[in-house]
Amino acid sequence: MREILIISGKGGTGKTSLTAAFAHISANKIICDLDVDTPDLHLLLQPDHEKEVEFHAGNEAKIDPAGCISCGICEDMCRYNAIHQENDTFVVDPIRCEGCKVCVTFCPEQTISFPEKHCGTWYVSSTRFGTMVHAQLFPGEENSGRLVSLLKNEAKKLAKEKNIDCILSDGAPGIGCPVISSLSGTNFVVLVTEPTPSGRHDLERVAALCEHFRLRAGVIVNKADLNVDETEKIERFCRGKEYPLLAKLPHDSLVTEAMVKGVAVTELGESAIGTEIRQAWEQIEKLAG
Ligand code: SF4
Ligand code: SF4
Repeated sequence: MREILIISGKGGTGKTSLTAAFAHISANKIICDLDVDTPDLHLLLQPDHEKEVEFHAGNEAKIDPAGCISCGICEDMCRYNAIHQENDTFVVDPIRCEGCKVCVTFCPEQTISFPEKHCGTWYVSSTRFGTMVHAQLFPGEENSGRLVSLLKNEAKKLAKEKNIDCILSDGAPGIGCPVISSLSGTNFVVLVTEPTPSGRHDLERVAALCEHFRLRAGVIVNKADLNVDETEKIERFCRGKEYPLLAKLPHDSLVTEAMVKGVAVTELGESAIGTEIRQAWEQIEKLAG
């Protein structure tokens, strides 16, 4: 099983457009959107949901007003100020509740329940490029790393069932918990960057993460012609780290056209950038083994 992950260290580098193009040109694979906080691969792949499952993680306090005697103990004990009085009873603000369970333990009437928290939804969908596993975490919810692990396991299970030997994943931006979780078990990481000082800085950070986990990686510089000096600095960085430079893609309005149409750039017929993306994918497939 080959697990190929596309990440960038920052948003806005064209990572998702590239993932959509790779999803279009690659043969058998399960597609996975591991950006569970702000997913956007679905905008290009327009998935039809076949399976929809609630994601529950952590717990939150809920007061049953019928049993509440308005003693105020829970409000006094909640160090997160998540409980306040409303008329004759007390209520929990679910945004502030950290799930510490103190109020549940000390309520003299045992009228505070502690159910699992519904944090989002995950899906198995069909797309014109194959099966896709993806999710949406509710705004402000935590446990994104856990949801990423769940999606990865689901993708592996589906790949086994369908006799597919490749999982192609679009990772989250940054170097936080969901990205760290998405790196687990990955065979090859594609680092997408842009030729700006911040793009290079974020590339260095995400490359350090790959090094830490001893993962093989290659680099794609997007819009490489917009800043030749910065592109050269990125090339030097790649040589120093012995990262293969998979492609230096030019700025091309065709990518924007594809985004506006909600398709992968490689679906718009033969093009110079399409050819370079296909060549990059051939290298990735070889390097992923
Ligand atoms: S501790 Fe229990 S009974 Fe007292 S105010 Fe809170 S919920 Fe109501
Ligand atoms: S579980 Fe903890 S954080 Fe949540 S309302 Fe109760 S005391 Fe406050």
